[in-house]
Amino acid sequence: MSEIANNLNFIRNRIRDAALKCGRDPSSVKLIAVSKQVPPELIREAFKAGQTIFGENYAQDLRDKAKALSDIPIDWHFIGHLQKNKAKYVAPVCSCVETIDSREIAEAISQQFERRLASSSSKAETSKRLNCLIEVNVAGEMSKSGAAPESVLNIAKHVATLSNLSLRGLMAIPPYYDEPEKSRPYFRRLSEILNTLNRELNLSEPLTEISMGMSGDFEVAIEEGATYVRVGTAIFGDRV
Ligand SMILES: *Cc1c(COP(=O)(O)O)cnc(C)c1O
Repeated sequence: MSEIANNLNFIRNRIRDAALKCGRDPSSVKLIAVSKQVPPELIREAFKAGQTIFGENYAQDLRDKAKALSDIPIDWHFIGHLQKNKAKYVAPVCSCVETIDSREIAEAISQQFERRLASSSSKAETSKRLNCLIEVNVAGEMSKSGAAPESVLNIAKHVATLSNLSLRGLMAIPPYYDEPEKSRPYFRRLSEILNTLNRELNLSEPLTEISMGMSGDFEVAIEEGATYVRVGTAIFGDRV
């Protein structure tokens, strides 16, 4: 078995164990293989080993890799900081934009997705709406992107007015610690923000997705309610 396939198995087992340990259904946690700086050949290898969701955080890299791998049905998630002028690279190829952090970005993505719908001749284009998550700056770090917790409700209400987008939940990149337990308060905070948002929005179908946890701390994130974990290094090895 290849090293990537081995790593994937190991991570899947750890995800299952972490879910069972806290009484969750393991299938409620989905693995995003973060493939930034990973060449298309290795992404293909991971796909052959059964991995279908991949995360990229540079818009042009996402565009290029989606093109190189257009023969296989990958679910691309965009997980990087998004600028308005890069929406055109992201919206045509991804299945979920995880980093909506302002009304303007939501509008730019929605407009570009409209063009994707208009240009798509194939009936196979099943989804009429692009899934998205709002990125929350849970620790209020000046240096980081993400919406302030107080503005999440406002952005969510705006996204709800955009007919091309489907809001599914929240995402966060908390401060990095060597010790996974230190991330727990931020993971818990994001879960609480989702609960509050659901109460305030009072939608017929509540938002369910929470994207949080990386190679070093995804088990703690699962204990705190993650439905997506984003794992790079533990699958593909150290980035150089
Ligand atoms: C790089 C990255 C990850 C994965 O980090 P690892 O520590 O390599 O698992 C997860 N989320 C985001 C937003 C990233 O940029």
